[in-house]
Amino acid sequence: MQTYKAPLRDMKFVLHELMNEAPLPGHEEFTPELVDSILEEAGKFCAEQLLPLNASGDLEGCAIENGVVRTPAGFKAAYDAFNEGGWGGLEAAPEFGGQGAPATLAKLVEEMICATNISFGMYPGLTQGAVRALEIHGTEAQKALYLPKMISGQWSGTMCLTEPHCGTDLGLVRTKAVAQADGSYRITGAKIFISAGEHDLSENIIHLVLARAPDAPPGIKGISLFVVPKLLPDAAGEAGAGNGVSCAAIEHKLGIKASSTCQMNFDDAQGWLVGQLNRGMQAMFVMMNAARLGVATQGLGIAEAAYQGAVLYAKERLQGRALSGAKYPEKAADPIIVHPDVRRMLLTMRAYVEGSRALGMWVARRLDEANHERDEAKKAEAEEFVALLTPVVKAFFTDAGFECASLAVQVYGGHGYIRDHGMEQLLRDARIAMIYEGTNGVQALDLVGRKMPANFGRGLRRFFHPVAAFIEENKGHPVLGRAVGGFGKAFGALQLATFFIAEKALADAEEAGAAATDYLRLFGLVALGFMWLKMMKLALEKLPDAGVDAPFYQAKLSTGRFYLERMLTQVGALLAVIKAGKGALMELPEELF
Ligand SMILES: Cc1cc2nc3c(=O)[nH]c(=O)nc-3n(C[C@H](O)[C@H](O)[C@H](O)COP(=O)(O)OP(=O)(O)OC[C@H]3O[C@@H](n4cnc5c(N)ncnc54)[C@H](O)[C@@H]3O)c2cc1C
Repeated sequence: MQTYKAPLRDMKFVLHELMNEAPLPGHEEFTPELVDSILEEAGKFCAEQLLPLNASGDLEGCAIENGVVRTPAGFKAAYDAFNEGGWGGLEAAPEFGGQGAPATLAKLVEEMICATNISFGMYPGLTQGAVRALEIHGTEAQKALYLPKMISGQWSGTMCLTEPHCGTDLGLVRTKAVAQADGSYRITGAKIFISAGEHDLSENIIHLVLARAPDAPPGIKGISLFVVPKLLPDAAGEAGAGNGVSCAAIEHKLGIKASSTCQMNFDDAQGWLVGQLNRGMQAMFVMMNAARLGVATQGLGIAEAAYQGAVLYAKERLQGRALSGAKYPEKAADPIIVHPDVRRMLLTMRAYVEGSRALGMWVARRLDEANHERDEAKKAEAEEFVALLTPVVKAFFTDAGFECASLAVQVYGGHGYIRDHGMEQLLRDARIAMIYEGTNGVQALDLVGRKMPANFGRGLRRFFHPVAAFIEENKGHPVLGRAVGGFGKAFGALQLATFFIAEKALADAEEAGAAATDYLRLFGLVALGFMWLKMMKLALEKLPDAGVDAPFYQAKLSTGRFYLERMLTQVGALLAVIKAGKGALMELPEELF
């Protein structure tokens, strides 16, 4: 069975030592002590309430009967306990019953949820995305009607974009929205793959639906966003009569089996416009960006769970002898952690996890600044940074999540491939995060096609400047100087790749498309390298007075060294691939495939 212990020491290190930022306006009450106690409580909740339902939920899955979807045993009780603890509203606005916590804290809690039960996390996760879209684009009346109940978890939320013929290309949306005399709309169409579209956890389900008015312009510019409740709120704002919304079927899928993935029919359902007509994508992007960071966190959570499982096993499993001679001669064999190849796998996971956690926190802090900073210039700067890094963390963390889950299966050998230890479930559950919220290939296109050139590269500079300043400041560091020099070369590779793509793409957009995925990976590797060097520098400063904490900082130095020497070095190969250009990709004629 999978086990989990919240990595509180590392979380606190990243929040209080590495970042150590002053609270933003509105976050003053979240003192380090309060933040720590919330993290501790969250860790307990996830380990005690969510983890025990992870394997059973996977085995049982969701079921549908006459349009009614049943979640696995124990999910309803856990959902109620989750809401009683206020976890669903941790980050939401206090005026609607949320706790107004910083994203930095909320993301760490999300990581724990994803590590222990990613399927469960989908239900409140989708709601939080819908809450965010309504907070920003809803009318005052919509906010008053929906937000308190969604934040408390009494009602849940969905995002309904995908249709059978339309996934990535949302310009193809066909669902119709016809204006009514009373200001509402009638929504008709079929949506597929809708997470939490129907279930038995909440009293009502509030769908945010992309649809098209009859006279709307074609393509993406004619799409609008509507709020469509499953049960229509009555005059008192309570769940009332049924709306024309039904679940036709649920999907049978590779992983996240306890999360209901629904085919939803909207049949003349009553809905209300959110934001402006034909500007639905702008409103939906708020939700999608929040969701993309949420999905990135799923990758991180799975990677942490995989790492913990693999370490436990590698210390227990006795096979073979250390190449340097028996380490435990009194035992029948040495534990597999003595083998360099097993250590390679464990350290790869660890370096991904801790590096990603640090990078994720940097992005979350900048997200908090974008939302709460009073200084408009700083706010705008933070927004650009988050916009740039969102596709990077979404794709890089979820690729890493899957890679770590696969490595964990490998560390367990055959015992990882069978069900007993939970590793094969992690592998299956991790896979979807690379697909939904925009496939990772599409994230890469977003990075090179939109984020990189935006404002003549100003967004890029929000990342490049602090990295360049760090290299300049630390290249003569007595201990880390050489490592900083090596990192400088990796950063140089990123700059070269950026110029190369920018130049080539001007003449031929296909060149940018051909380079996109490798460029995003190169970017992610350099971003993690930056995080590792900052952590190593801090660890060196802390070590002399660390006392009992010394092993923690020592481990940072060793893991950082592994990352810089054995993972960051992949950037050279990536740069070579990028520079090879589109030729080899586009040469083979379609008919020869
Ligand atoms: C379990 C699950 C839960 C989901 N939850 C939701 C949900 O709650 N709400 C919702 O609306 N949707 C949801 N989805 C749908 C999901 O977001 C889509 O599956 C995803 O966006 C990809 O769309 P698609 O499956 O139609 O693939 P396609 O868009 O057909 O893409 C197929 C392949 O082509 C590539 N591709 C497509 N266009 C391009 C391009 N322009 N350039 C380069 N490559 C391209 C893609 O990267 C991909 O590899 C869910 C899906 C699943 C499986």
